Amino acid sequence: MSHEAALRAAVPEDVAELMGQLRAAGFAAYVVGGAVRDTLAGRAPADWDLATDATPDQLRSAFPDAQYENRFGTVGIPTSKGVREVTTFRADGPSSDARRPDAITFLGAIEGDLARRDFTINAMAFGVPSGAHGDPVASGTIVDPFGGAADLAAGLLRAVGDAGERFQEDALRMLRAARFATRFDLMIEPATAAAIRRDAGLVATLSGERIGAEIDGILVAENPAPGLAALFELGLTAQIAPELHAAWVAELPTRVAAIGETGSLDALDPIGRLAELLAVITDDAVVEKILTSWRRPRATLHAVAALRAADRSAAAAERGEIDAASYRIATAAQSGDPRDAARQLRRRIAAGRATPAAATLLALCERADEQQLPALLGDLAADGGEIIAAINEQPGAWVKPLLEELLQEVAHGRVENRRDALAAAAKQLHEKQR
Ligand code: ATP
Ligand code: MG
Repeated sequence: MSHEAALRAAVPEDVAELMGQLRAAGFAAYVVGGAVRDTLAGRAPADWDLATDATPDQLRSAFPDAQYENRFGTVGIPTSKGVREVTTFRADGPSSDARRPDAITFLGAIEGDLARRDFTINAMAFGVPSGAHGDPVASGTIVDPFGGAADLAAGLLRAVGDAGERFQEDALRMLRAARFATRFDLMIEPATAAAIRRDAGLVATLSGERIGAEIDGILVAENPAPGLAALFELGLTAQIAPELHAAWVAELPTRVAAIGETGSLDALDPIGRLAELLAVITDDAVVEKILTSWRRPRATLHAVAALRAADRSAAAAERGEIDAASYRIATAAQSGDPRDAARQLRRRIAAGRATPAAATLLALCERADEQQLPALLGDLAADGGEIIAAINEQPGAWVKPLLEELLQEVAHGRVENRRDALAAAAKQLHEKQR
């Protein structure tokens, strides 16, 4: 299928309708950026952004329910499929803070608008200029002044125009480079890579949220390893997480390759990958500091901390310090999910950080799951109230440790997980303690 045929087939109905309305009002109508890139790459676009020469004011009079979105000329137009974003062709003026342009200018033609975009693969559009006739999808053409389609086919990520200037205008583009390179399996073209190396220091001006969002974007890619390696090699990791950079210097190749490695069951588990990414750092406080600086949600911090604690139990289990049942219990206590024990072990094995004993431990954990051995207090066939009744004593601080002991007994097959057996064992254990 030709590229144009692919786009004609892919444009959603409501977007085509919107393009038709823009054209009927005499305006240019294009889909632009990610949607064109994704379609040419054979993927389904996440969003369909439109570009036109109509100014935001003209858009709002042509579409009465349009909503003004931002000062960069983007307007949201509600359609049957939700709100579509339409942006007026624009040029960005220079930036004094390496984050956003100081001023913007609206333009009459798509080419100027494409020139402000970051990478050639993101600087393509499909549609019709102003004053066109006929259906804008059926008669639409691809506008690709910077050779984005050829770069995509050749596996190259290349900045539009002068790479250094593009990164000085907006330092986020350097992190985006690593994200797109890893998502589409592209090599960062040498002049683009050289400019990042030179200007990497500018990412220090970015907000933690924007940095964190790009890291997330890399970690959800099918294969995040090249993106992480690029961050490191281009000097970006040293800026956004110096401690991680320092820890990586020694062991980068093995570490990075293991994150989301094919065959790992955790391949699309971004939190697990985040924990794996930071696993080289031994100090929990430093990990927390990095995640906080990236403005990650509290839930993410907790999840990563739980995974790290479970990982330490796994290491102890591999050294023979604790057995599989205790390990499962310790893991479940941290995360609330007994299956995490096996998950943790698989992760360690995939990351090449497990001793041969880990495979045995994994098999034991899997068998424990099959046999439905309890891992949480709630899995026991008797609850605290029943145990108190069986022992006939005042409730108190003694109950929880006793239940935990019972859990160990059951997990090791020494006591059956039945109410009467548990009550009998509880009596004995309680006697012994007194
Ligand atoms: P995704 O699939 O991640 O949404 P995308 O390419 O659609 O990828 P967006 O951030 O949604 O990325 O931006 C849409 C388009 O706007 C991009 O394709 C690119 O042309 C342009 N763009 C976005 N951010 C920048 C930037 N920081 N600098 C230059 N152009 C940008
Ligand atoms: Mg997008």
